[in-house]
Amino acid sequence: MQKVALIVAGGKGERMNADIPKQFLLLNSTPILMHTLKQFSHFEKIVLVLPPSQFKYWQELCNTYNFRQQHTLVTGGVTRFQSVKNGLEKIDENSVIAIHDGVRPLISTKLIDSLITETKNGVGIIPIVPVKDSIRKVEGGNSIHVDRISLFKVQTPQCFLSADIKKAYTQEFSDTFTDDASVFEANGGEITTLLGEEKNLKITTKEDLKIASILI
Ligand code: C5P
Repeated sequence: MQKVALIVAGGKGERMNADIPKQFLLLNSTPILMHTLKQFSHFEKIVLVLPPSQFKYWQELCNTYNFRQQHTLVTGGVTRFQSVKNGLEKIDENSVIAIHDGVRPLISTKLIDSLITETKNGVGIIPIVPVKDSIRKVEGGNSIHVDRISLFKVQTPQCFLSADIKKAYTQEFSDTFTDDASVFEANGGEITTLLGEEKNLKITTKEDLKIASILI
């Protein structure tokens, strides 16, 4: 079965407040997205989802940085759900797919490979890390303590067999879908977790970028 990485970078990245989209900002002198793609260079195929308005800029960056890694470019949608759905259309049935946020460049190949190895029929595998802070639920002006012992943060890549995840993505969109595991579960799929990596952070703010530049 061929291993395929579906890298989603179709969002506008407005939380970063930068002139260029966050996936193109430099980390250790190279655009974030190139670090991310490189971690999947041992895969047979890479599908990269970008907003169509960024295709030309990305291709210019690939020339400037002499980035020659083969990948298929796909048009992003208005939601992450739609972006993933567009990417899945370019992937064959007989594949195991790792769906990964483009802005998580510090993922290790060891974790990617462990997740892929565990993926089987009807079961999706995702990385999670324990919540370290105390947690409060805020509602209607009041807040209450929530026990963090059973709470975990969800990361990517999230791995599935192609036929399973393609079927899940034929569902109607729901606002509650924040990742692929939530889409898969809503369609009756089973999710298994593996311990993720603290350094596998999602670069969302300028502070995250500074932290990533220390960790890399
Ligand atoms: O918005 P959020 O932080 O959940 O985005 C997670 C990942 O999904 C990012 O890599 C982002 O670029 C991607 N995304 C996408 N298409 C969208 C929205 C987000 O590919 N319409």
